[in-house]
Amino acid sequence: MQALGNGFYARTTQGPRAAVWLTISGILKRACGGGLPLNESKLLTLAAALEEGGYRAAKSYLYRAKQKHVRGGFEWSEVLQDVLKLCVRSASRGLGPGKTANAFLLENVAKRGAAGINVAQPVIEGGPIAPFDAAIVAAAWMMRALEAASVLGEQVTMAHDFAEATIDLGRGCPTSLRCSCKCGSAAGSLQESGCCPVHTLARILEERESLGLEGKYCRLCNTSGHAVSSKKTIDSLRIVSGESTCSEHSMRKAGAQYYARKSVPLFLIQFIGRWGSLVVSQYVGNAFLELALKASLGESSLGPVSTWGGASESGLVRAAAKSDAPTDQAVLKALEAWLNKANARVCE
Ligand SMILES: [Zn+2]
Repeated sequence: MQALGNGFYARTTQGPRAAVWLTISGILKRACGGGLPLNESKLLTLAAALEEGGYRAAKSYLYRAKQKHVRGGFEWSEVLQDVLKLCVRSASRGLGPGKTANAFLLENVAKRGAAGINVAQPVIEGGPIAPFDAAIVAAAWMMRALEAASVLGEQVTMAHDFAEATIDLGRGCPTSLRCSCKCGSAAGSLQESGCCPVHTLARILEERESLGLEGKYCRLCNTSGHAVSSKKTIDSLRIVSGESTCSEHSMRKAGAQYYARKSVPLFLIQFIGRWGSLVVSQYVGNAFLELALKASLGESSLGPVSTWGGASESGLVRAAAKSDAPTDQAVLKALEAWLNKANARVCE
């Protein structure tokens, strides 16, 4: 029974769930003198407070309040249900799209890096080494700042010929990306390789080696091999990208948009970025705009494989084949269909 109970909610959601109830009971206590049981007036008060406070998740707060009431053994009447429905409707009305992170252009980071004197130097004190490369790698693998700050050297596999690199961000789904630069397999300069995920990663590994850091250290570390905090990762990113509004999810978004501009289909972006839902479409935003325009002119938006930028078809198939995720079959099937189409196009 204990094990069953532990599985009701993910461990990571337990804190936020408690915080939601704390907010609800706080509002009700101050406004109505107490929380449970709910009644019409308490429900309306709660909804009004949440709406006035600009809570985007007001709906889930209201449902949580109902859940507490019902689990407390109190009766949930038709009237309460009706009031709840009206409150949810009011709270959801006029909500625009959610606030998402600001993105940046990977190309700009590469350009700024190429113009720098010593690109291996952190741009802020205690910030990540090789900060320009670090931003590109994190964006190419679509990491959150926190993920970027916690990837260990051991999770990274680099092919000896620098043709591809694999990063395992957990969840049994290592993702391999191929070299996308024209410089061949030798470690090239930023100028030559631009946004190539493999060679940017290779330079970070090289810099780590020159500092004498072992595999167990964080990949995006500072000069002494220590992990860089999420905040410093973001501060550093703001400098190398020139976008002062970058935040936790900016590298994830920038990567998704980069692939979208390179004609990588949405489901593949979703796959490389380990998105479980179509939230990815919010990130891609209007990066598909130009492709859509081409499509409207009767041109295909599906370019040949060579225009895929950092993602390579075989790299993706390999990653999919390694994965134990339950959706493997679906992903593989979709990949296969897409590849057949893409290959046919290349042969033409
Ligand atoms: Zn390369």
